Amino acid sequence: LNAASTLKVALSVPLDTLFDYLPPRDAPSPVPGQRVLVPFGRGRRCGVVMAAATATDMPPAKLKRVAEVLDAEPLFDGNDLDFLTWAARYYHHPLGEVVGAALPVRLRRGEAQVPLGEPGWALTAVGGALQPAQLSRAPRQAEILAWLTELGGRAPQSLLREALGECASALRGLRDKGYIAVVELPPEPGIPLQGAAPQLHHEQASAVQAVSEALGSFAGFLLEGVTGSGKTEVYLRLAEQVLARGQAVLLLVPEIGLTPQLVKRFARRLGDRLAVLHSGLGEREREVAWQRARLGLAPVVIGTRSAVFTPMPQLGLVLVDEEHDASFKQQEGFRYSARDLAVVRARRAGCPALLGSATPSLETLKNARDGRYRHLRLTERAGGARPPRLDLLDVRGQPLDAGLSPVLKRAIADTLAAGQQALVFLNRRGFAPVLSCYGCGWLSDCPRCDARQTLHARSGLLWCHHCGAQRRVPTTCPECGSTELHPLGAGTERLEQVLGEHFPEVPLVRIDRDATSRKGSLDKLLAEVGKGEPMILVGTQMLAKGHHFPDVTLVGVLDVDGGLFGADFRAAERMAQLILQVAGRAGRGEKPGRVLIQTRYPEHPLLQTLVGQGYDAFAEAALAERREATWPPYSFQALLRAEATDAEWPQAFLSEVYALAAPHAGDVQLWGPVPAPMQRRAGRYRAHLLLQSGERAPLHTLIGWLLPQIRALKLARKVRWSLDVDPLDLY
Ligand SMILES: [Zn+2]
Ligand SMILES: [Zn+2]
Repeated sequence: LNAASTLKVALSVPLDTLFDYLPPRDAPSPVPGQRVLVPFGRGRRCGVVMAAATATDMPPAKLKRVAEVLDAEPLFDGNDLDFLTWAARYYHHPLGEVVGAALPVRLRRGEAQVPLGEPGWALTAVGGALQPAQLSRAPRQAEILAWLTELGGRAPQSLLREALGECASALRGLRDKGYIAVVELPPEPGIPLQGAAPQLHHEQASAVQAVSEALGSFAGFLLEGVTGSGKTEVYLRLAEQVLARGQAVLLLVPEIGLTPQLVKRFARRLGDRLAVLHSGLGEREREVAWQRARLGLAPVVIGTRSAVFTPMPQLGLVLVDEEHDASFKQQEGFRYSARDLAVVRARRAGCPALLGSATPSLETLKNARDGRYRHLRLTERAGGARPPRLDLLDVRGQPLDAGLSPVLKRAIADTLAAGQQALVFLNRRGFAPVLSCYGCGWLSDCPRCDARQTLHARSGLLWCHHCGAQRRVPTTCPECGSTELHPLGAGTERLEQVLGEHFPEVPLVRIDRDATSRKGSLDKLLAEVGKGEPMILVGTQMLAKGHHFPDVTLVGVLDVDGGLFGADFRAAERMAQLILQVAGRAGRGEKPGRVLIQTRYPEHPLLQTLVGQGYDAFAEAALAERREATWPPYSFQALLRAEATDAEWPQAFLSEVYALAAPHAGDVQLWGPVPAPMQRRAGRYRAHLLLQSGERAPLHTLIGWLLPQIRALKLARKVRWSLDVDPLDLY
């Protein structure tokens, strides 16, 4: 037997190893990057060939053959595979699962590639000659027609839907009138469009220049730009330059930031050279977009977290918008940071990485201060709009009505009277965070978590936001039978109700996960707001991201105090980012905005700094606190989590890990094991052990040594455990 002919195959299984197979008997041997079907256990599995091996530890009699080669060409090239291998090693995660995460679902399952021709729509001769006024009674159809005209007369169905939202019935209407027709778009690169580009202001121009001078080799940039300062235009100009060099651009955005407005803007300028990748796509659509990117047919990819793994030939620029956003961190399974991997990817591809944000993370700010990233700033808002004014509203001793103080209510009334819009921000959905019994003190505890079930009055449910457990709202107290059941505190649902009672004559729009769960409902609500008439918006952080509300001139922020004293050392940073993101919605163009922040701790130094001196000064102070406490970014962490239905096991398991690790820890500190802040969640008890070090290397060395020992522990089979490198949440 010739050992040189065995193949190392990555299978998406939770085992930290590659698997050896012989090449197929009567087909050419597959090369690295190709998918293969192999016998595994009693069935067959799809895997990716990582290498042709020169040696194998397997006894020859046990070696099995590849059953089938699934792709004619490799899906990943050598650089892609090296990048995935690097990521698996850095996060200490099984390589097979990492490779699996990089594949679209259908391909991961071993299905054949979908053909690349894409269904699309094209204007007919009649439709092309139509005047917009002729469709004035069908505004949706008029919008589609205008959009198709702008894109040169044809567009893939997927792009239409990304840009315009659900539009199936309007498309049918246009087709029935003979204005548009279904076409099969050929798999070829899209046509570059020359959409009109706005004039850059001075700061935008120098940011574009700084990055474009660095094209062709790795350099890190932080683009700190206040909301409305035109970061997107900087991305677009750079994308155009990179395309002109014959290279590709990867733009990562948070899930919630991938709005139709953003896609429209890019499509208008770049045509269908754009592919959009996010989790809301159907499996086939997602695969087509992925394949178009991989083949260079769509050299611009806008995508959420997992798009960081999209194979892209000739990558020339990596952009991460809203880089501070927590959604870039995968919190389950393969726990990677797409933001951090994006920078690694740029370095390996030899191209610049640009991280943009109005409120950069402290990690990124420190990189900029240390000179690892060049710090570019956009301080002016487009059109010379003035920044909103932030004020603290001391609500100590104030009578609060669903969280609203009298001063805030008056300010809302004034805003509405001036014909403008007001926004009230409360990052808590539902009617009230807890239902209580005045008779005996019973509280609506979740039966499965150390948490309360939130009251959702409209649906008549008590609902745990941590594990999803639901039950009907009881009419009498389950403990004492009293009918004196009352909601405590307020969520957006209650806020909406109270505001409605106060301002019965103005329309109210609530934007949170409950109010927008039906497809298309968010678009409808946004369209309502877009009319610009006086109204009140109520919502959670969904309001804070991506959407523009030019007619909002007052923002009320309720309940920020949790962020000042949160158990997590990142709580204050998140609070500050959220306040500024919400504030950024207020006042654009000629109308200045005002932001009122209700607090019971108006003297708190971090709040004072944020409101009085802005985010930079806040970040400076927060970084000083982190340095003092040697928290990240002044140290590096890995969190070992364990959970089990038995309360004792997680703690016992982690104690054994501690005993193993302690003699080898060296400069790595071991904190714990301790019960997680919310010890019981979804019926399981949780504990963790935190590993922290001033340097990355000793931490990773210790983990690398420790993991095989942990896997060999008997208790490791009694608990569910996981390792989180660079954790964002210590929960
Ligand atoms: Zn009771
Ligand atoms: Zn629960």
